[in-house]
Amino acid sequence: MSLSLNEARRLLTEATPDEVDALMAEARRVRDEVYGPRVFMRGLIEVSNHCKNDCFYCGIRRSAKCSRYRLSEEEILACCRKGHELGFRTFVFQGGEDGWFTDERVCRIVENIKREWPDCAVTLSLGERGRASFERLRKAGADRYLLRHETADREHYASLHPVEMSFDHRMQCLRDLRELGYQVGAGFMVGSPGQTVETLMEDLAFISEFRPEMVGIGPFIPAHGTPFGDRKAGSVELTLRLLAIIRIMHPHVLLPATTALGTLHPQGRERGILAGANVVMPNLSPKEHREEYALYDNKLCTGHEAAECRACLAARIASTGCELVVDRGDFQ
Ligand code: SAH
Repeated sequence: MSLSLNEARRLLTEATPDEVDALMAEARRVRDEVYGPRVFMRGLIEVSNHCKNDCFYCGIRRSAKCSRYRLSEEEILACCRKGHELGFRTFVFQGGEDGWFTDERVCRIVENIKREWPDCAVTLSLGERGRASFERLRKAGADRYLLRHETADREHYASLHPVEMSFDHRMQCLRDLRELGYQVGAGFMVGSPGQTVETLMEDLAFISEFRPEMVGIGPFIPAHGTPFGDRKAGSVELTLRLLAIIRIMHPHVLLPATTALGTLHPQGRERGILAGANVVMPNLSPKEHREEYALYDNKLCTGHEAAECRACLAARIASTGCELVVDRGDFQ
């Protein structure tokens, strides 16, 4: 089954329960054909919640009154060491746009990891940077970069971000990353304020055109104290349909069942896997800083140790009939 954008639109807006079931089954079949019933695990390390940006939706935006932290180079390496012992072979460094993470520092961290664990992939998710910076990080050994496009609609983008942030620059970053040889992750929130079926169709069209190796999508969840703190959360059901549609349209894509999905529904991540997702990202950040990386309210697992998160996700994956894979999990 191949899916046209028109058919995708119909499934998003008026699918019957039977059609939704068939959509999920087809998404699993397509995933299994490419990757088998397997789910890749990435260790997420939230390196800093300092951020120079003021995105309207985000709980760690510059003007949020939250307590700020950043991990030292030693703390980051210690997280990786623990992660490697737990079987992780991909580390994802995510953070706000924190000027402390200069090219020099990030390169040193990446080089140290690659030296100590040459069998591991390093993914960066540190926001927008210049092309020269992306190039240095790539040369230091970074394999992948996650930078959600957030929305492919220029006006919608402008309604989610302050004027100094540029849709064109974000898109330029994605093109630069691609040209520099990264495996690139784009993506968006489902149900962000102002999102419509039309803007979602633009997201699907953008994904079809850009063909990112990874697509991160999760429901929008309000974060208190932000301009969107009193808005409605995105829909779990719509997120699941979008996951399945993206899987069917892009059989090879690496598709995470996100923490945000797990936050809105107790079996959110399992349902994501049953909708064709094939990546989970348990948290390897030090327990004492988990709560501070609060992109949105009631985020999952803020009180857990890395090993607990790994074990919990392994059990959840097993319940879906999939196998947890501990290799790098490269795009195929
Ligand atoms: N500074 C980095 C990492 C941002 S956090 C960057 O700019 O890429 C990672 C993702 O979390 C964001 O891209 C956004 O899509 C998502 N996010 C932020 N606030 C959120 C919220 N309130 N609800 C759900 N997802 C959110």
